[in-house]
Amino acid sequence: MWNEAALGLAFVLFLLVIWQKRSLTLAGTLSAGVLGTFIYMWTGWAGTAALITFFVSSTVLSRLNKQEKEQRDSWQVWANGGPMLIFAALYGIVSWEGFLAAAVGAAAASNADTWASEIGRRFGGRPLHVRSRKRIENGYSGAVSGAGTLGAVGGAFLVGGAACFISLEVNVFMLIVVSVAGVGGCFIDTFLGAYAERLNRCSVCGSYTEADVHHERKTMHASGISWMTNNAVNALSSFGGGIVVIVMYIVSFFSF
Ligand SMILES: [Zn+2]
Repeated sequence: MWNEAALGLAFVLFLLVIWQKRSLTLAGTLSAGVLGTFIYMWTGWAGTAALITFFVSSTVLSRLNKQEKEQRDSWQVWANGGPMLIFAALYGIVSWEGFLAAAVGAAAASNADTWASEIGRRFGGRPLHVRSRKRIENGYSGAVSGAGTLGAVGGAFLVGGAACFISLEVNVFMLIVVSVAGVGGCFIDTFLGAYAERLNRCSVCGSYTEADVHHERKTMHASGISWMTNNAVNALSSFGGGIVVIVMYIVSFFSF
């Protein structure tokens, strides 16, 4: 009882720091609070460790790269954490290890994706766009680089490692599956980014951007599927990471 009260208090303090540091908007902070509470309720420490590792490591990496601080809103929180929550709820209903691994895999995919773009942006030079097969400017979706791919592997492995380490029962199979799925989810993100993601055009400077607002003006839809925003791409690739985990669990069940 006292342990839980202390844990709850620590969580509230953690959220206050996040909000105070302007990592998340107020709505984003509240959403993260709801998300974290349910992840803990349904998956215990395994999912919670994965979620915290994703949140902290991706926030730190993004901060290192950007001069101006970008606050994430509640849409971004749910796009990255929603798929994980679905698998966590399934694990809460049916305690099949595959669903727990899928929740961790969804977080691993989100983290792999952030690490790939942040590390790729910093060390990857001019990345190769998968659709046009041309080297493009840094900072757009749909392109790959060697450094970015290594970043994806590191980001996925860290989330899987944190979950396996903290849940005491170090499960090597889960760690491998989750890491592979995390990198897989990152590739889903790249392909959606290249072939389907909505790109907007700024009416002031004429540059292409994923942002809704550029130079304080609303941008115009230029290419891609209109509802396939960056949030939709992130949610689909995170969900895809979880699905890859489930498929690997089912295949391993029939092969051993
Ligand atoms: Zn502009």
